[in-house]
Amino acid sequence: MSPAHPTSYWQDLDKAHHLHPFTDFQQYRKTGGRIFNKAEHIYIYDTDGNEILDGMSGLWCCNLGYSQPEITNAISEQLQQLPFYNNFFNCSNQPAVELANALVDVTPKQFNQVFFTNSGSEANDTNIKLVHRYYDLIGKPEKKLFISRNNAYHGSTVAAGSLGGMSGMHKQYTGLNYVHHIQQPHWFAEGAGQDKESFGLQAARELERKIDELGEENVAAFIAEPVQGAGGVIVPPASYWPEIQRICRERDILLISDEVICGFGRTGNWFGCETFGFEPDLMTFAKAVTNGFQPLGGVMVGNKVADVLTAGGGEFAHGLTYSGHPAACAAGIATLKVLRDNQIIETAAQDVMPYFQAQLQTLVDHPIVGEVRGQGMFAALELVKDKSSHERLAPDSAGAIHCRDKAIQNGLMVRAVGDAIVTAPPIICNRRDVDTLIDRLSRALDTTAAHFNIR
Ligand code: PMP
Repeated sequence: MSPAHPTSYWQDLDKAHHLHPFTDFQQYRKTGGRIFNKAEHIYIYDTDGNEILDGMSGLWCCNLGYSQPEITNAISEQLQQLPFYNNFFNCSNQPAVELANALVDVTPKQFNQVFFTNSGSEANDTNIKLVHRYYDLIGKPEKKLFISRNNAYHGSTVAAGSLGGMSGMHKQYTGLNYVHHIQQPHWFAEGAGQDKESFGLQAARELERKIDELGEENVAAFIAEPVQGAGGVIVPPASYWPEIQRICRERDILLISDEVICGFGRTGNWFGCETFGFEPDLMTFAKAVTNGFQPLGGVMVGNKVADVLTAGGGEFAHGLTYSGHPAACAAGIATLKVLRDNQIIETAAQDVMPYFQAQLQTLVDHPIVGEVRGQGMFAALELVKDKSSHERLAPDSAGAIHCRDKAIQNGLMVRAVGDAIVTAPPIICNRRDVDTLIDRLSRALDTTAAHFNIR
């Protein structure tokens, strides 16, 4: 890309030819976008030279920030050695073998097998096929139904989007008819007036009710994120996960933990299921496995399912050209090595994560903040006009959108999700970085309060 061109050149070309994900194409033609051309440490830079603290770690993936020469060198060395070969037809490559082993080392003990994909969406599609095949092989072919949650995000392909519970997505295509949804454990939005822990139990027991409604003999699996990320960093009450685990065990339903955001340190442990104390049968991962530097996802398949699939015989008729791509796997190996050699997750969990959560909690006294919730290194602030009734600042999430735009103007990238501001900075931030983030965020809150005349 030539630096000689002004920003408007890139914006005009972008508007002319590039259809962006989750974007109103008509609107984008009018507004255009911000073009990024550089990143360092925890900062991203646009073509106008603005420096922005990346409070979203890219798209929840650059947990180690942007300056990781061990990862970039590993990718480039692998591209020179073996840029590509596939893993079909009894072939393999060394990085895929090595990464599979490294993943087994860092994941909970029930996981000894991995199936690679390029993305979280494809990994969740893979989950469906693995689970269906498992039940066919154990002679329960009628167990085909999946249960998920409203407002869940499990990806964008037709199958992963069906597993998700985003109503806006469902309106635009016909989803799979074997996926059913239950309530999300979102106390602030749906549990007002109820004690948090009883709400958590009640939300979990929706699963039991749904299993009864559909017939236990027809239900294959329940899928959920430990903390719903894209849904708005929805941290469930402590009562929620133990109850979900109990129900899945008692009712013989496979439990899938979608760790695409929670995995690799975000919640303060390697995986979110460890933070919340449950033992999934399958685990979806992507994003931070390569620190976002290469596209890679996959499914960790627990022994219960893997033993059946490997003993069952017959081909598993599923795979992607780039399943176990050598350069992506090299990035994964290097990422895990950086995380392990430097004890990054363990150190952050002791120091910067509690500091980050404590500093964010100070914002709960701000006149437009109705709730601050978070875990490890991500959090959401619910914006309100009235703290007791939870009345929102303005219709159509205009309050959060205003606040997000002000934060970006102040040099902080955050996201607006519904009426909440969401942030998930790199876990390598130190306390000073957190102070900078909080300062920029509170200034955005002040400007937003003034804009909506709240004192
Ligand atoms: N699952 C979860 C929990 C996610 O957050 C995402 C992406 N944000 C996905 C799946 C889909 O991953 P991808 O975008 O890599 O397909």
